Amino acid sequence: MTYDAWFRDAETGTGRWELDEIIYRSPSGGLLEVAHDLEALKNRTPAGWMKLWDGRYKRTQWPFSSGVWGKKEMVLPGIPDADIVSLDEGGTNLFWAERFGRELGIPELWVKQCGVSHTGSFKDLGMTVLVSQVNHIIKSGKHQIMGVACASTGDTSAALAAYCAAAGITSVVLLPRGKITPAQLIQPIANNALTLALDTDFDGCMQLVQELTEDKKLYLANSMNSLRVEGQKTVAIEIVQQFDWEVPDWIFIPGGNLGNVSALYKGFEEIQTLGIITRIPKIVCCQAEAANPLYLSYKTGWKEFHPVIAGETQASAIRIGNPVSRSKAIKMLMKHDGKVEQASEQELADASARADRTGLFNCPHTGVALASLIKFVERGEVKKNERVVVVSTAHGLKFGNIKADYHTGKLAGITATYANPPVELAADSQAVYGAVMRHMEKRYG
Ligand SMILES: *Cc1c(COP(=O)(O)O)cnc(C)c1O
Repeated sequence: MTYDAWFRDAETGTGRWELDEIIYRSPSGGLLEVAHDLEALKNRTPAGWMKLWDGRYKRTQWPFSSGVWGKKEMVLPGIPDADIVSLDEGGTNLFWAERFGRELGIPELWVKQCGVSHTGSFKDLGMTVLVSQVNHIIKSGKHQIMGVACASTGDTSAALAAYCAAAGITSVVLLPRGKITPAQLIQPIANNALTLALDTDFDGCMQLVQELTEDKKLYLANSMNSLRVEGQKTVAIEIVQQFDWEVPDWIFIPGGNLGNVSALYKGFEEIQTLGIITRIPKIVCCQAEAANPLYLSYKTGWKEFHPVIAGETQASAIRIGNPVSRSKAIKMLMKHDGKVEQASEQELADASARADRTGLFNCPHTGVALASLIKFVERGEVKKNERVVVVSTAHGLKFGNIKADYHTGKLAGITATYANPPVELAADSQAVYGAVMRHMEKRYG
C-alpha cells in the first residue's frame, strides 16, 4: 500500500502542493512542511510498525537497510525505489557514554553518533531524501532541473556534493570563505561540485542562494526545503528504536539554522500520533554563545526574536545569526516546553576534550551540547536516574585542525585544561623509556 504525502504551509497547516512541484515557501512567505496521511498510516498497529521497521533495520534489502529508507512510508512513501539515491545513511551507533556519564553522575548517558556517516555529519539523513526527490523529478521529466544548489557552513555542501555525485546530478555550493574547516572544504571539491567560496558569512550565502534559485532550473537544497527535514526526523524514531521502543528522558541537540531540532520534534510527534510512543522527551537546543539568537529569544520567554551577527566560534557549522527554520523550531519548543542553553568557547572546548578522554571523538558542536548538558546536571535539572541522549552532529575528524589546536595550546583565548600534546623526543630508547615512566608516575603516583 502507498501512503500519501504532500507539502503544506507549516504555519497554518493548510494548502496542498505535490512533492514534485518546485516550491520552497507558501504564498504567504512562510515555510512549508511535508504532511503525511497519518490516518492512513494508522492502518498498521504500533506493534506492526515496530515489527516492520525492526525487520529492515541494518539488514541487506536495498533501500530499506538505510536508517532513513527503512522508514520509507513516513518519509517519501510515493517515490519508486529505483529513483532513491542512498549511501546507506542512518543506523548510526548509539554510544553508551558509560565512563563520561559516571563522571557527571548520570549513568544513563548516551551519544547518538550521527557523524559516523558517509560524509561525516547528520546532513546525510536529509540529503538522501532531497536528492532522491530531485532525481525522481528529473527522471519523470516533469521539470527541467539543471542542478542543485545550497549555502552551507560546511556539512550541507559536503552531503549535497556526495549525493549529487552518486546520482550524476550537478551541484553548486556557496560557502563563507575561510569560515569552514579544510576537511569540510575538500569534500565538495573532491565530489566535483562547483564550489564558490564567498567573502561573506553563512547568512550572506543563504541570501545569495535564495536569489540564485529563484530560477527554478537550480533546485534549492537548504533546510528551508522541508524535504530534508523528512530524512532528519528519522533520527527521533531511530533513537527510540535503539532503546527497544523506550523513550529517553532528555535529548540535547546543537542548533544553528534550527532545521534539525524541528525535525526531531516532527519525528516524535508523528510516531506519537501513530501510538508508537506515548510521550515526547524533554529537548534542549544548544547554541554557541557567539551565535545565540534562539537562546536570547528563549530568555525573553519567546516574546522577542532578533537575528544577531554571528561571531567566530569553534562550532563553525552553527555559526548562524539569522536561522531560517526559527519559526518551526520556536513553535515546537513552545508547544513541548523545550529548553535552550548556550556554551562559551571555553566550555565547549573543555566538554568536548573531556568526553574524548572517555572514548569519544567529538566535533565542537557536540561539545556545545555536552557543555549544555553539564550545566543542566550541575543545576540539578537533569536527575541522576534519567536517561539522556546527546545528538552528536558531525565526526570529530572533520574538525581535526581545531582539536589539534586545542591540544597544542594554540586556540586563542582558551585555557586547554584537558590538553594532551604530543611529546617530541629523540629516537633514543633511554629518552623514550624515561618519558613513559614519567607518564605512568603522573597517572598512578
Ligand atoms: C548543520 C549542523 C548543525 C546544526 O543543524 P541545524 O539544522 O542548522 O540547526 C549542527 N552541527 C553540525 C555539525 C552541523 O553540520
